[in-house]
Amino acid sequence: MTDDQIQYYKELLLKEREELLKELVENNDSVRSMLDNDSHNVNDSVDEASNTVMQNILNIMSTKNQQSLLAIESALRRIKEKSFGKCISCGNEITKNRLDAIPWATKCIECKNKDEKRR
Ligand SMILES: [Zn+2]
Repeated sequence: MTDDQIQYYKELLLKEREELLKELVENNDSVRSMLDNDSHNVNDSVDEASNTVMQNILNIMSTKNQQSLLAIESALRRIKEKSFGKCISCGNEITKNRLDAIPWATKCIECKNKDEKRR
């Protein structure tokens, strides 16, 4: 994957994360004040799941949004570690079509299908 492509997905992921947080801020005053007090951390950090602000945010999120946020965070971490776009199961590259649909995908379609059959 080229740097340009990685940059493209990174922007998608950051936008997606912003959407998730925005919804939360709109519906929750305590989150808004947390972010106001500590917006620097939330906006800048990639792997801040251990950070208190992030931890508090996760606590009040719905499970579904929690999972999305964590998936996005971990995709951003993989971008940083330069392992983004590779299947965590078999190591092959995840196809562009799949990443366009789900930028935080961790597995190629073959491995995902195998998982689903096993379930
Ligand atoms: Zn795979």
